Amino acid sequence: MSDARAVTVLMTSDLLTLSRACAVLRRRNTPIRGLSVDSNGPPGVWRLSCEIDVDDATAVNLALLIQNVVGVRKATITSIPSSGVHMSSSVRVYYEADTDRARLRDRVFAIIGYGSQGHAHAQNLRDSGARVIVGLRPGGASWKRAAADGLEVQPVAEAAQAGDVIMMLVPDQEQRAVYETAVAPALGPGKTLMFAHGFNIHFGEIVPPPGVDVSMIAPKSPGGLVRSEYQGGRGVPALVAIHQDASGNALANALAYATGIGCSRAGVLATTFAEETETDLFGEQAVLCGGATALIQAGFETLTEAGYSPEMAYFECLHELKLIVDLIYRGGLGFMRHSISNTAEYGDLTRGSRVISPAVREEMRRLLADIRSGAFAKEWIAECRAGAPRFEELRRAAKDHPIEQVGARLRAMMPWTEEGKAAQGRTRPKPTQPEREPARA
Ligand code: NAP
Ligand code: MG
Repeated sequence: MSDARAVTVLMTSDLLTLSRACAVLRRRNTPIRGLSVDSNGPPGVWRLSCEIDVDDATAVNLALLIQNVVGVRKATITSIPSSGVHMSSSVRVYYEADTDRARLRDRVFAIIGYGSQGHAHAQNLRDSGARVIVGLRPGGASWKRAAADGLEVQPVAEAAQAGDVIMMLVPDQEQRAVYETAVAPALGPGKTLMFAHGFNIHFGEIVPPPGVDVSMIAPKSPGGLVRSEYQGGRGVPALVAIHQDASGNALANALAYATGIGCSRAGVLATTFAEETETDLFGEQAVLCGGATALIQAGFETLTEAGYSPEMAYFECLHELKLIVDLIYRGGLGFMRHSISNTAEYGDLTRGSRVISPAVREEMRRLLADIRSGAFAKEWIAECRAGAPRFEELRRAAKDHPIEQVGARLRAMMPWTEEGKAAQGRTRPKPTQPEREPARA
């Protein structure tokens, strides 16, 4: 039986190889959807991706034929699950050429919120030729900023009324109240409600009426970078998802928005509200924020409890992490391991899995289960409704941790840090040994 399959071919970056691989596909005479070629992987390697409908035997045969083309490094043909998580090889990526910039014209974009994301979306869309109205609360701190940046600013309800597209960029925990009081009354057929994170839609906090398109463009970076990359003629990658397609044009319109803020220059990956929300929450809890800060603190405590100085513990467990992450960011774990000493690499490969033990992995699975069941969202929403007393208490305790105190003193010696800049403004500390960034772990 013919099923939808994702074809992924990694090849040497030359047109002859590409045309030979395409010729193999053409010989089967099957319709080809969503063909794209990108060079986002290792240098000198192109990736061809597309979707075809073939049966199991043909898929195996075709993969072998493509694999045999000179210059092809790897060819895979995998079935596309009709629902649920898509395998990475079948993730659809949209670039600027796949989008219709004309959809930015003749529509009013109401950008609700002018914080990290809001200021970037509003200014990028405006600079892309769209009509933008920023929706804010009068008297709030950002009203003046948006006006000073030359944007039209109106109270949220009026901006939502005027907008054909309403992008919700107030903090997630504020969105339901803002939506209910000022946005919902403005919604009707033909309007589009957009998000940069799926939390409120996925967990049912916001339930838009049926005639409205509901979509997401979620840049994978803080707003400052969304703006500065756009100004530099580039863009940051983003995710696109469609929750409700009342008009039949929800995807095309969302992709045009991505072009308006510069993201389709880098690539826009197709996902769902569920996948974006659940992976985002898991990433920030288990790895990026919760996991990383707990790891840093546990390392710091282990060293100081064993009698080492807090200064040494700070450098080893916190300061140097940036150097390692920079290497990982540039070229992955392999590039980082290539750059560190052999001793560090051996320690990494033999000891890392003892730190992230099976028990830790089990706990990660429990975190994920709480995210997927909605238990985490329920807890966080209840905490916000109660005025966030536990959250404030936890924030206070985190601020008082010794690593923060020794850190502030040490960073005053480093002119590029927040404390360092402040210290430079006052008296310069007596030059002891200038701080050098160690090149190796
Ligand atoms: P943020 O910077 O915290 O948003 C602050 C803005 O929201 C300010 O303009 C503030 O105005 C306004 N605001 C707050 N409460 C309001 C209310 N009750 N009524 C009207 N305006 C209100 O938010 P953000 O970090 O950009 O996040 C926005 C969305 O983008 C979220 O869904 C988030 O998950 C998503 N996102 C964020 C990032 C990121 O890196 N930050 C990345 C990707 C996606 P005032 O000046 O009046 O307080
Ligand atoms: Mg996140």
